[in-house]
Amino acid sequence: MVEWASGLATGNELGPGKGWMRRSMDKSIQRAIELIGNAKHVVALTGAGISTPSGIPDYRSPKSGLWKKAEDMVEVASTYGFRHQPDKFYEWLRPLLDVIRQATPNPAHVALAQLEAAGHLQAIITQNIDLLHGRAGSRTVYEVHGHLREIVCPACHYLTAAADALDAFMARGVAPRCPRCRHVMKPNVVLFGDLLPRATLRAAQAAVQAADLMIVAGSSLEVSPAGDLPEVAQAHGARLIVVNFGPTHMDAAADVVIHADVAEVLPRLAAPWTAAPAAGPLSALMDMAAAPLNALIAALEPAEASASAAVR
Ligand code: ZN
Repeated sequence: MVEWASGLATGNELGPGKGWMRRSMDKSIQRAIELIGNAKHVVALTGAGISTPSGIPDYRSPKSGLWKKAEDMVEVASTYGFRHQPDKFYEWLRPLLDVIRQATPNPAHVALAQLEAAGHLQAIITQNIDLLHGRAGSRTVYEVHGHLREIVCPACHYLTAAADALDAFMARGVAPRCPRCRHVMKPNVVLFGDLLPRATLRAAQAAVQAADLMIVAGSSLEVSPAGDLPEVAQAHGARLIVVNFGPTHMDAAADVVIHADVAEVLPRLAAPWTAAPAAGPLSALMDMAAAPLNALIAALEPAEASASAAVR
């Protein structure tokens, strides 16, 4: 039976395994859409995974390719490291800044902006510094790890817009200096060892406590305190949707878990509230074409049902 099923799948990308997972994902997406439709106060929590489809690596991860050794992260991108060796920090920042400045919002960012515009998302809490939520059109965004809009002097706390200073740095390689005290200024982002911006964090926590639904999108929930917010939301009665490539510690407690690309899934979650007439007839046609195969897949389902725990 199993051999026959796998033989059937050979050379057919709509084989039983993938077909089953796709239909399970369809069910999960349908359930998530119901939760969004029934919720009154929805908060999204986003992490590096929502910007990787825009080509931005997770700079806090040793696997990002931006670090030769894991220890360098703390030595270079930390409060201590910046104050003692700001040039080393800027040398490290250059390739990341280059990528971020060229990146554009992807369909996941756009979908969240559309949900907000439709009144089905009240706030985004993000660990990202890349400004892509704002550029996608999102309005209420709590950037708990700071952002690249501003630079700040770590010595006298002078704060100013970042664009010109970072342009000059990229063009001439000269790190920006504080006009008051001449210390090298840093982008207004949270480095290792920095406190999170208090007002932003407080606003984010208030949004979480008011939420009756939280959507985690592209976060592995490994970094505190943002990673703890789903638990806080649930403690205040919120439902939980997790959309992330890899597993998270909240998967078992979530109402819906979808292990897939946020750039594929979030537009589907927003679809009921976005006018996208072009997608209608085409996807209807594809559904029709897939129908007989789906019937075949349904017959094979028991053999496949235990194979994936990705969707509940
Ligand atoms: Zn200063």
